[in-house]
Amino acid sequence: MRIVISEFMDEVAVDRLRATFGNDAVLYDAKLVDRPDDMAAAVADCEVFIVRNRTQVRGALLDACKAAKVIGRLGVGLDNIDAPACEARGMKVIPATGANALAVAEYVIGTAMALRRASYQSTYDVAAGKWPRNQLSSGRETAGSTLGLVGFGSIGQLTAELARGLGMNIVAYDPALPETHTAWNELGAKRVTFDELLAQADVVSLHVPLLESTKNLFNAERIARMKAGAVLINTSRGGIVDDAALVAALKSGKLGGAAIDVFTQEPLPASDIFAGCPNLILTPHIAGVTFEANVRVSSMIADAVIKALA
Ligand code: NAD
Repeated sequence: MRIVISEFMDEVAVDRLRATFGNDAVLYDAKLVDRPDDMAAAVADCEVFIVRNRTQVRGALLDACKAAKVIGRLGVGLDNIDAPACEARGMKVIPATGANALAVAEYVIGTAMALRRASYQSTYDVAAGKWPRNQLSSGRETAGSTLGLVGFGSIGQLTAELARGLGMNIVAYDPALPETHTAWNELGAKRVTFDELLAQADVVSLHVPLLESTKNLFNAERIARMKAGAVLINTSRGGIVDDAALVAALKSGKLGGAAIDVFTQEPLPASDIFAGCPNLILTPHIAGVTFEANVRVSSMIADAVIKALA
């Protein structure tokens, strides 16, 4: 098998690979990731291994990829791939850079508005005739508030573009993006230090990779330095926010709300750590996953594979 796909990929893109390389050249099994022995056997002679975020391309599985030239990643964020080890073996790692950025940016805007307004969880109370109008009458508007973006790369910049349309002020912290970069001016974003961002932002949204320098970045001490009533949104990676510190800040009223899409362990094991937390949205790592994003991500990786094997 020349191409092995171990997780969900849009069928149209899979069919394009089949049409280009032949039906017999493509093994597509969206559940292969759940059968590690079958997966290790399947990749033994493949040239291209296409994964999403659950397949851990490292250690024994990477050793099993004896003939692979390309690792296609249906998304961005390479923490499930040992990229240096792939590189050392001459394999090219290709992420779908930018293809799901809009889905994430819309998630950030959607949750920011919902959390600031804090008025959309009354369905059953309204249906039950409780009419909680007084309790829900002091929600906050989003226009005029300040969005603080930690990481101003592809997703951070797209989020800024959408936020501008809503009349938000934008500050961003990304020391690797030089002051002279055109994005700052084009998107009307103010380049600030991390401390300034914490002090100014009403909504803080995280768009950094998981690195030693970002691990536990939002711990109790830094959360304490955020503005009172601010909202925290994490679509980047689990481990960047300390969940226990976040829960304490929501329960004490220090933070006004939070949306968390990513967790240190995924799927998140059942636990009561988040029980009773006010104004909290938890989602199962779907910020970047929409119908349209799936099509874009899969199509981008199919194009890249066709080009790489040409
Ligand atoms: P990107 O590489 O375009 O941008 C990341 C930015 O973070 C870069 O500009 C970099 O300079 C900056 N950065 C790195 N370390 C930093 C630090 N310590 N402080 C401040 N800035 C720092 O990546 P992207 O496409 O914008 O994606 C960002 C992250 O979002 C990815 O790493 C991925 O983990 C996550 N993501 C999640 C989903 C989802 O479904 N939840 C989907 C896509 C991406």
